[in-house]
Amino acid sequence: MTLLRPAAPLTPPFPSRLPAVGTTIFTVTSALAAEHQAVNLGQGFPDFQCDPALINAVNQAMVSGHNQYPPMPGVLELRKTIANKIEQLYGKSYDPASEITITAGATQAVFTVIMSCVSPGDEVIVIEPAFDCYLPAITLAGGKAISVSLDVQRDSLGVVEGYAIPWAELANAINPKTRLLLINSPHNPTGMVWQRSDLDRLADLLGETNVLVCSDEVYEHMVFDGQHHHSASSHPALAARSFVVSSFGKAFHVTGWKIGYVAAPAALSAEFRKVHQFNVFSVNAPMQVGIAHYLSDPAHYLGLSAFYQRKRDFFRKGLASTRFKLLPAPGSYFQCADYSALGITQSALSEAEFCRWLTCEVGVAAIPVSAFYGAETDSKVIRFCFAKEEKTLETALSRLSAV
Ligand code: GLN
Repeated sequence: MTLLRPAAPLTPPFPSRLPAVGTTIFTVTSALAAEHQAVNLGQGFPDFQCDPALINAVNQAMVSGHNQYPPMPGVLELRKTIANKIEQLYGKSYDPASEITITAGATQAVFTVIMSCVSPGDEVIVIEPAFDCYLPAITLAGGKAISVSLDVQRDSLGVVEGYAIPWAELANAINPKTRLLLINSPHNPTGMVWQRSDLDRLADLLGETNVLVCSDEVYEHMVFDGQHHHSASSHPALAARSFVVSSFGKAFHVTGWKIGYVAAPAALSAEFRKVHQFNVFSVNAPMQVGIAHYLSDPAHYLGLSAFYQRKRDFFRKGLASTRFKLLPAPGSYFQCADYSALGITQSALSEAEFCRWLTCEVGVAAIPVSAFYGAETDSKVIRFCFAKEEKTLETALSRLSAV
C-alpha cells in the first residue's frame, strides 16, 4: 500500500507591487561590511553615542509614566518646541496644533506625504541622484516618477567641481499632471546645498501651478564652510505649498530611534494626518517627551555643522593622499569620491562591483552612487559616510591609501 504524503501547503503566487525592487543598498552594504569586518562607511549612521543627557531625558519620560499612546499627530510639547525652532531659524511660524506632525523617521514622512497627495496617473518629479525611498513610494501610490538629473559641473580634466539644479529640465518636466516635486537639501548623496536664490527660482517656476513640494531637509544642521541651510519653510511662497521633512536621528546621533516630523500648512497637514493615522497611528511616546525636553536647548543642534565640518575636513585631508578624487562636500555627512584613477582593473568595475570589492578585499564599505538612480548609471563615483569617530576614519583611510 502506498502512503500518499499530504501536499505541502502552497503559498499562492501574486504579482509583486515592486517587481524591480530588492533589499535596499544600505541594508545589503551593512550586512556585507559586518560579514567581512569592513569599516562601515556605507549606510549613513554615527558610530558614536548620543549625549547622555538625551538618554536621561527619554529615561525620565518612561519612569514618569509616558508609556501609553501619545496624541496621533505627536506630543504637543514636542510640536511646540519644533515650531519654535523653525521660527527661530527660518522665520516661519507653524501652528503646532494643526501644522506639525511627528513621524516614525523621515522615510515614513516621505512615504506618507506621497500617499497623501499622489493619485494614480499623477506625475512626481524627482531630481536624481535621489534617496532610494522616493521612487518605490511613488510607484506604490500609482504615480509616475519623472526623473531629472542634477547638473554636474566639471573642470577641464573632468573632475567634478560642483552641482546645480537642472532648471531647464525641471521647467520642461512640469505639466498639468505634475502633482509633486521632491527636493532635498543638504543633498544625499552629493552634499549639495540649495541657495536662497535657488528657492526664489523654484518659487517662480512653480508660480501659478498646483505643484506641491516635499522638501527633505534631514541634514539641515550639517552645512559647512560658513554657508547656511535655506529651508523651504523660510520662503513664504514655497512654504505655502510644501511639506518640510526633518529627522532627529541625524541631528542627535540616534538614527535607530526613527523619529522625525513634517511641517506643512494646515490643509496639507490635514491630508497627511488622514494617511498617517492609519499608517503608524502615533509615534513612540517617551522618546517624543525626552526629545521635546532636549530640543528646547538650541545648543544641542547649533554646533552640529562645526562638529561635522571637523570630521569632513579630517576625512578629506586623508583621502586627498589616496588615488580617489574628492568631490565637493558642502553639506550632510557624506563625501563622494571618484575611483576612476585607481587603475585599469578597478576602474573597469561598475560602482556596485567596486563597492563590493572595496568591502570584501580592502575592508572599507561605501555606497555606489548608482543606487540613487532609477535607471542604470555608472559614473565611477561612490559615497562615504564620515559620521564616525576619528579612529574609525583613520583605519578606513589607511586601508584606502593602500589601493
Ligand atoms: N539615510 C541613510 C543613508 O543614506 C540610510 C537610511 C536607511 O538605511 N534607510 O545612508
